[in-house]
Formats: sequence, C-alpha cells, structure tokens
Amino acid sequence: MGKNYTQMKYISLNDKNHKVSFEDAVVRGLAPGKALYFPEEIPNLPKGFFQNLNKHSKEEIALEAIKPFVGDEINKNGLQRILKKTLDFEFPVVPISENTGTLELFHGPTLAFKDVGAGFMAGCLGHFVKKGNLGKITVLVATSGDTGGAVAKGFLGVEGIDVVILYPKGKVSEIQEKQLTTLGQNITALEVNGNFDDCQDMVKKAFSDSEIGEKRQLTSANSINVARWLPQMFYYFFAYKQLAEKEQKLVFSVPSGNFGNICAGMLAKKMGLPIDHFIASNNENNVVTRYLKSQKYLSKPSVQTISNAMDVGNPSNFVRILELFNNEFKPLSNQLSSYSYSDEETRKAIKKVKEKYDYVMDPHGAVGYLGLQEFLAENPDYYGIFLETAHPVKFLETVEKVISEKVEIPVSIKEVMNKEKKSIEISDYAELKEFLMQ
Ligand SMILES: *Cc1c(COP(=O)(O)O)cnc(C)c1O
Repeated sequence: MGKNYTQMKYISLNDKNHKVSFEDAVVRGLAPGKALYFPEEIPNLPKGFFQNLNKHSKEEIALEAIKPFVGDEINKNGLQRILKKTLDFEFPVVPISENTGTLELFHGPTLAFKDVGAGFMAGCLGHFVKKGNLGKITVLVATSGDTGGAVAKGFLGVEGIDVVILYPKGKVSEIQEKQLTTLGQNITALEVNGNFDDCQDMVKKAFSDSEIGEKRQLTSANSINVARWLPQMFYYFFAYKQLAEKEQKLVFSVPSGNFGNICAGMLAKKMGLPIDHFIASNNENNVVTRYLKSQKYLSKPSVQTISNAMDVGNPSNFVRILELFNNEFKPLSNQLSSYSYSDEETRKAIKKVKEKYDYVMDPHGAVGYLGLQEFLAENPDYYGIFLETAHPVKFLETVEKVISEKVEIPVSIKEVMNKEKKSIEISDYAELKEFLMQ
C-alpha cells in the first residue's frame, strides 16, 4: 500500500541531523557547507500503478510520482497546475532499430531537457511566494548557454519573482542569446564583458553581499536544487508508459554531466518503476566510468568536448547516487554501467545513425547511443532507450558538418530569432550591484 506522506523531510548529505521541509530545501537550494539535500525516505509506489501506467495521462503519472516528495506543502490543485504548465509538450519514444529507441526530451519551450526541472522549480517557488511567507524573490543566475534559457522561460511571468541572468558577451550561441534576451517581463539579461567564470564570480559575490541582501532576497536556480532534480524522474515513467507491451528487460542510457538526470531515473527505479539497468554515457569527462572500473573516485578538471553540457569534471549529483545505494559499491555496480567516448567516436555515431536509420542525433544523444550499443552487444536480451537531451539544431555547426545536410529549424526557434534582443551591458561587479540596488 502507498504510504501517506503528509510531510517529506529533506536531510543534508553532510549531516543527517539537519532536516528541513520541502519548501526550505527549494528556497535554500543547498544545505549548510554546500551540501546537497536528499529525501529522508524514498517512497514505494503501489505495483498496480505501474501495471496501469498507460491508462493515465502524463500529468496524472507525474502527480502520483512527485506527491510524496512535496507532501501537503503544495495542495493537490496547486501541484496539478504546476505540472500542467511544466509538462505542456510531448516526450515521445522514437524507435531507431529493433532493440533500440530514443526518448526525445527536447520538445520543451527552449528545446532543452532542462525545461522540465526549471519549469517545476519556478512553479514551486512561485507557489511559495504567493502563499505569502517569503516576500519578493530575485533569482540570480550565471549561464554559459543553455541553463539560462530554460530558467528564464520557466520563470517568465511568475508573480513575485524577478530573474536576473548574467551571460558572457559573444560567448553563447546566437540562438541561446536570443532565448535569454527576448523575453522581457520579469526577466532581465545582463551581458557581461568577460567570460563565464567572471559571470559566476559576480553572482557568488552578490550572494555574500549583505547590502544587496538587505534590499533583495536572492535565490539561485541551481541544478542541484531538489525542485530541479526530482521532476526529471518523470521522463522514465513517460517512456515506460509507451513501452508497456514490451516484455524484454529494459535499460536506459543517459548522457551524463552532473548526473542529475540519471540519478532521478535510478530514484524512479527505487520507487518501483520496472527498469533493469542504467548506463551513464560520458564524453571524455569520465570520472564515473573510471570509478566503476577501479572503485576509485578521482575527479579531474573538465576538458572541452562537442557535447559540452557534459563537460563536468566532478559531477555534483554523484553523491546522491551513492546515497541511493547506501554507499555500497557492489549493488551500485550491478545496476549501473558506464562508458566514455571521444568526439571522433561521437561524430562517427551521428553519421552512422543518420545513414543507417535516417535519424539525426545531437552530440549528447550520440554519446548515449554509443553507450547503449556497447551494452547491448554484450547483453542482447535487453531493449534499450537512450535519452536525446537536446535538439540537434542547438549544435547546428557540429551536426551539419557531420551529416553534410541542413538541419531543419523548428518554428519556435525561427520565432525567437526574429525577436529583438534586449540586454544591459555590464563590465564589473560595481555595475551588477548598482543594478540590483535600484
Ligand atoms: C545538462 C545536460 C546534460 C547532462 O545532464 P546531467 O543531469 O547534468 O547529467 C546532457 N545533455 C544536455 C543537452 C544537457 O543540457
């Protein structure tokens, strides 16, 4: 039987005696000492729920899955409203070959799978502000490209919340810049004369500036926030719903950077979703691939690749995966495989899949495809899904060069490209502070 969770607590992974409510975990983002929050208990969903998944809408499925984690801190109507807005697009599983399909996660408003996490977090924070216990909030983020767009779009028009995004001038793609700078309303884009690290440094400084703190309540929309991490488990439920009649064992290959997405999938399994195995597919930033071989976790500085959203040297969500397995290596390695690929191998895979199956993958999806094929070669009794985490149009130059063809530009991108860019140029921290103090 499903237990009734009226109030889920979140513990700090550095100190299990530090417990907070869902609202506090969302508003704070991080526990003291930059530790991650983690649900005190992982709920089990009733077996019947999984057997009848295809009888439910995606909003109903998402509600059942997330309810225990939110408890009564957001009422059912409120939660339904947030989910309806967040999940307002398709998550199709597209067959590629006999034993392989891809789950397309790029049909959201900014064509990034991060749209779901950003939208859900915006909905939750907006709800808490509206309830009146928080006051007005400013979300301050630095972006190197994709995250900023998803966060901006998620928070667009949410009452009581202003969003200020810093991005490095001339260092994001044209599409990404348009997605950041054309929204208006409660979203302001600050174009920084500097690089991404400069943006990040300014944001950090602002968070510790008490004068700004007196004037504005600042929050980050960081990717390790529980409200961005947890809703990613929906993808796996939605895929399973579409595969209901398949009788083979099921494996998911997840192109991984910070390991939030795959960790949410492993959480879904722990809640009862019948998934047999996971593959963490890495580019050359492969600390987890090496860990599973050697049992030694050695982080190293990130290297730049063509699947740049996965250029992470020390994935912050990996501690959450370890926690799911009580830090025991054996059970973890029974459930998780990991492979790593070079840019050259990634390009070859994009070309091959286009030629053989007439399907265009982006570089991240291609890494996922490669990991899946390597696993299936040794485990032919599985059906495999790799996650397509970005639309190929977002990596136009790389993809078009490899397939020697134009990638079709989606309507939503054409629209945003025709809008007028609005940004405020700043060069140093003093200018950021002046903006935040007005
Ligand atoms: C963020 C991102 C990833 C990595 O996801 P994690 O949850 O950080 O592992 C993969 N692909 C794309 C396109 C992304 O934007």
